[in-house]
Amino acid sequence: MLVLGGGPGGYSAAFRAADLGLNVVIVERYATLGGVCLNVGCIPSKALLHVAAVMDEVSHMADLGVDFGKPVVNIDKLRGHKEKVIGKLAGGLAAMAKMRKVTTVRGLGQFVGAHHLEVSETTGTAQEQNGSKKVIAFKRAIIAAGSQAVRLPFMPNDPRVVDSTGALELKEVPKRMLILGGGIIGLEMGTVYSTLGARLDVVEMMDGLMQGADRDLVKIWQKMNAKRFDNIMLKTKTVSARALPEGIEVTFAPAEEGGTAPAPQVYDLVLQAVGRTPNGKKLAAEKAGVAVTDRGFINVDIQMRTNVPHIFAIGDIVGQPMLAHKAVHEAHVAAEVIAGELQGNKELAAAAFNARVIPSVAYTDPEVAWVGLTEDQAKAQGIKVKKGLFPWTASGRAIANGRDEGVTKLLFDDSPEAHGHGKILGGGMVGTHAGDMIGEIALAIEMGADAVDIGKTIHPHPTLGESIGMAAEVAHGSCTDLLPSKK
Ligand SMILES: Cc1cc2nc3c(=O)[nH]c(=O)nc-3n(C[C@H](O)[C@H](O)[C@H](O)COP(=O)(O)OP(=O)(O)OC[C@H]3O[C@@H](n4cnc5c(N)ncnc54)[C@H](O)[C@@H]3O)c2cc1C
Repeated sequence: MLVLGGGPGGYSAAFRAADLGLNVVIVERYATLGGVCLNVGCIPSKALLHVAAVMDEVSHMADLGVDFGKPVVNIDKLRGHKEKVIGKLAGGLAAMAKMRKVTTVRGLGQFVGAHHLEVSETTGTAQEQNGSKKVIAFKRAIIAAGSQAVRLPFMPNDPRVVDSTGALELKEVPKRMLILGGGIIGLEMGTVYSTLGARLDVVEMMDGLMQGADRDLVKIWQKMNAKRFDNIMLKTKTVSARALPEGIEVTFAPAEEGGTAPAPQVYDLVLQAVGRTPNGKKLAAEKAGVAVTDRGFINVDIQMRTNVPHIFAIGDIVGQPMLAHKAVHEAHVAAEVIAGELQGNKELAAAAFNARVIPSVAYTDPEVAWVGLTEDQAKAQGIKVKKGLFPWTASGRAIANGRDEGVTKLLFDDSPEAHGHGKILGGGMVGTHAGDMIGEIALAIEMGADAVDIGKTIHPHPTLGESIGMAAEVAHGSCTDLLPSKK
């Protein structure tokens, strides 16, 4: 079996297939496995966000009686820490590939037929080709070639204009930084840079930041983070930019007719975080007969199979949400189906990606996490829900931590057919460590739990996770940590 791309999708597929007894080769153009997530995505961003969160936390400590003084940032050392984290995990992946006897081939892969991939060998830290080529034959293939950041065509080619990969290089801390796009990636990087000393502006076409999450949760995040921003420009688009000696001058326009836009501004650093585009058009997939959409996605069925029955695709390249945990689960499905088919194991061959929900997390401060149906979606779709909302102002642990701004919200089916015992349909949290806790709500949705199931599950006290049990009790009407809701 051949896997094209060594990101979280690719290496998980390769490892699962190897564990099931297949002979596996991964083709990856970069020097290490791990893809965007490990090398320039989830992991380095979280290594830096952790440092930022500690710095922010420590800055409040003086009010509690312990003053650590002003932080002194050694940016080279900080960058070194981030690189060490990546190195440790990349080393672990390489060792795991070796122990599983998965062959890793370094190079840029392109299909030359339905059962053949040509690999142009690459060297160095990037993807320089040295002219050496080889063709690998495969019985089955999984395409896991991921995605890359969208670049606005009018942005000047200038080191002061970066995408998330450039921002993670952390060359220096700008005085004024513009984040283009108010999504999770931009806001996470903005958090890091602002804690290190940058003043932020953000420009977003839509009418709110962090689209996808409920507005009441985002509002709490925004209130806590207002101090980081000079300007939050909503319903505004960026129309041009030019490189000047003093900085990058960016011009804005209203996103809607009749709107207004601020005057042009000059920035020391501009982060383009306007989305990611799949790599589907760069693989000569048509030579294998694999259909690629105009936007570069590869459509798959519930077993992750493309239009060519022996070729599968997983991860960012098959569609939204572009998240590592989605890629890993899809990877296991594809590997199991292939192993099942090759080995005549019907149970494995019937594997399918049928997760009910995929959680999303913004690892900002506070974190915002949500899964399943949101309240805004329920309203828009006319779905009747019963809400259990637990404010962390009533959480002993949140108060003890000095961080009681959070909220935990659960939504239960309140349709007449549910007869007052509706199953959980969704949930969201804003608060410290929300991302670490959202998995419990995902599990509850997968298991079809109702408010009694969650509320009667004993959560340890005092924890932030307790707020999930209490939100369920609120929906059920049995919470004694808040006053009863008026009937
Ligand atoms: C800054 C940032 C932060 C993020 N944070 C999170 C997070 O906190 N949580 C989360 O779930 N997700 C996060 N993501 C998204 C996450 O990184 C992706 O969803 C995930 O990496 C997708 O995995 P993948 O295996 O589909 O593709 P990728 O990780 O993109 O891997 C694809 C691999 O294929 C290789 N490749 C592509 N074409 C070829 C070719 N022709 N030949 C050889 N090799 C090729 C690439 O070099 C790459 O290594 C973040 C992304 C960014 C940019």
